Amino acid sequence: MNVNDNRILKDKTFDKSRWIQLPRDVIAGHDALKQLPLVVSDLGMKGPLLVLSGRNTMDTVGFRVVGLLEDAGFTVDSLIVGEITYEEVTRTAQYAQEKGSVLLIAVGGGRVIDIAKIVSYNIDIQFISVPTAASHDGIASSRASIRTDDGSVSVAAHPPLAIVADTGILASAPHRLTAAGYADTIANYTAILDWDMSTRETGERGSEYATALSMIAAELMVENADIIKEYDERAAWIVMKALFASGVAMSIAGSSRPASGGEHKFAHMLEKIAPGQVLHGEACGVGTILSMYCHGGDWKRIRHSLKIIGAPTTPAELGVSDEQVVEALVRAKEIRRERYTIFDSITGEQARAAVAALYEEE
Ligand SMILES: [Zn+2]
Repeated sequence: MNVNDNRILKDKTFDKSRWIQLPRDVIAGHDALKQLPLVVSDLGMKGPLLVLSGRNTMDTVGFRVVGLLEDAGFTVDSLIVGEITYEEVTRTAQYAQEKGSVLLIAVGGGRVIDIAKIVSYNIDIQFISVPTAASHDGIASSRASIRTDDGSVSVAAHPPLAIVADTGILASAPHRLTAAGYADTIANYTAILDWDMSTRETGERGSEYATALSMIAAELMVENADIIKEYDERAAWIVMKALFASGVAMSIAGSSRPASGGEHKFAHMLEKIAPGQVLHGEACGVGTILSMYCHGGDWKRIRHSLKIIGAPTTPAELGVSDEQVVEALVRAKEIRRERYTIFDSITGEQARAAVAALYEEE
């Protein structure tokens, strides 16, 4: 080996490497649930299945899922899960191991799906997501949030191996949940602005692909605001499509960055200041208007679209006081400090001005 060969070996001009995990089968639409046994067969899973669901959802959809799978010849166990805590995650993992489950099937909203995501990751099996409400952009992502003494933290988890989203089931969920899912996706606008700002100011790594997909999801929502109506399968379809795109954007980025910026830090802080009073997606919607105002963007367009679908746009509609919202804005930076956003530098005076703008005429 001569000197030049040696230099070639040592010159590392390209050392980037990424691992992107995405769902393999995605079935969405009218009566999609009936295709669940086919999806399980397609995945080649042999062994007991474990259906996870919340107390009420187990009665309405969970046992239907158990019946469909048993009729197709599968061995199925079921478990009702509660709040997402470390204890609940451990209890669920132990149950799955006792039963020798080879696949989890999470039937429910964000909470049940997040438990399945973490448990499947911890005990190294896969899970299928069967959402019963289009309320949450974690449906397709590899991130889960878990409640701790310090509030919610986002943890690495498995993305679902498959998603079966039945629009009939999604459309029968309360409209408030669909509206919250809509607002959670609108948050992508300001999440992207914060991410862009951080790549310029702190050198954080960005992703054009994740950014483009995240923006498509948010645009899809604003353009279709007029058709997001109660008990409407087409509305459920559109919101689910956007939530799915957001989830894939997060999986591509390997973090929640494309769908979670200052508006999410604000929402998490508000959930801490006023525990149990606000719905996650709704708080994110108001946070998006406030963040867009601070970024100097078209915040009225965001507010208008949220008004059309009947989502909250003021502290009062969220069920909290103006002072609590001001406090949440100023203290948003305390959540995930490493994630740089527009609210890192907001003063009390600026926060009060932003909250006052929420009440301006259209
Ligand atoms: Zn969210």
